[in-house]
Amino acid sequence: MKEHRYDRSRELHEQAIQSIVGGVNSPARAFKSVGGDPLFVESAKGCRVIDADGNEYIDYICSWGPLIAGHANPRVLDAINSTAANGTSFGISTETEIRLAEKIRDMMPSIERIRMVNSGTEAAMSAVRLARGFTGKAKVVKFAGCYHGHGDSFLIKAGSAALTHGVPDSAGVTPGAAGDTIVAPYNDIDAVREIVEAGKGEIAALIVEPVAGNMGTVAPADGFLEGLRELTTKYGIVLIFDEVITGFRVSRGGAQERFGITPDLTVLGKIVGGGLPVGAYGGREDIMDTLAPLGPVFQAGTLSGNPLAMAAGLATLAEIDSPETYAQLDRRAAKLSEELYNAADDAGMAVTVNRVASMFTVFMTEGPVVDFASASASDTDLFSRYFRTMLDHRILMAPSQFEAQFVSTAHDDSDIDTTVKVARDVFKSLKK
Ligand code: PLP
Repeated sequence: MKEHRYDRSRELHEQAIQSIVGGVNSPARAFKSVGGDPLFVESAKGCRVIDADGNEYIDYICSWGPLIAGHANPRVLDAINSTAANGTSFGISTETEIRLAEKIRDMMPSIERIRMVNSGTEAAMSAVRLARGFTGKAKVVKFAGCYHGHGDSFLIKAGSAALTHGVPDSAGVTPGAAGDTIVAPYNDIDAVREIVEAGKGEIAALIVEPVAGNMGTVAPADGFLEGLRELTTKYGIVLIFDEVITGFRVSRGGAQERFGITPDLTVLGKIVGGGLPVGAYGGREDIMDTLAPLGPVFQAGTLSGNPLAMAAGLATLAEIDSPETYAQLDRRAAKLSEELYNAADDAGMAVTVNRVASMFTVFMTEGPVVDFASASASDTDLFSRYFRTMLDHRILMAPSQFEAQFVSTAHDDSDIDTTVKVARDVFKSLKK
């Protein structure tokens, strides 16, 4: 196998650290936990990314989830280009906002009313404020290892890059904000029951990734989401599904459709913006109508509902909205994750591969991985070696053990076969 060089990426990183903190605009890109300099991307098409040194990779980061229809999808690009020709932002409503809202409601019927924002972080923060305003209560329950963006309430035992970089409990969060967040173990309904019974009368919201993606992929245990629905209904707590990753990915209607549980509010991002900066939150009309301009909970945004982002989101949802698309994504992701497991197993390595639809994670542990504690048992040094060796052989996985990997409609069977072939050699070399 050929060695690849990263000289230009290294040079750009050295320039970047002179003006951009840590050289990156989001810690998830830093490669700090896997070693080596972060990559700089030159271009991408379909499932392939080309870096600044001209190395071409099969990409399973997919911009951390939004690019379910592949990089530079021609229909999405057309939508962006034709919209841009008419102006990029007005601060006044446009028709495309309505069309995207209607499309989301059609695919996810629990969303009776919606509000567009600019990121998943903003959507999750705003949904919790709304739940507090609606219920008149202060506390929020979240789960260890789940990530809901970088709002103060969520940076307590957070997942994703916060976990990867050793700051799951961020500095700068006031004791007041931290004190209003109660952390529960994922997939442990008895623990949640105890918490909500003890916190009776004080809990505004319970927020959960219905399939966790930010401690790596972890499926909800049988009865877990049902249990959350029952408990939150019983105690008048707003149940928020954070479907920033799972929305339109784990099925047409997200995790709520796949598992048949209707939340009160849903937080969206990623796919809904088709690769442009978007978030959204929506749900029960009576709760959403508490928002300004109808109600007393304030939330606003200069670029919210941005025409380019709306067009990209709408084109992406149109692109994937067919049973065949979801069946094909599922089949390819199943093949990939099964074969990755077999490749490791044949090399005599104990790994756990968790998959839900087209999101998956290879955990460097015997498993099972069902929550933050069992995910944390992974051998992260081994993961780093796996990541770097795969990268050297032109397969780009997320640079952290505690992330999901994604299959897009642009990954075809030969891309999956190539990936598996490389992984077989890589696992063998890691075992030596
Ligand atoms: N919620 C979940 C489940 C996420 O995975 C993320 C980001 O990865 C967020 C919220 C935050 O979204 P953003 O990075 O767009 O602010």
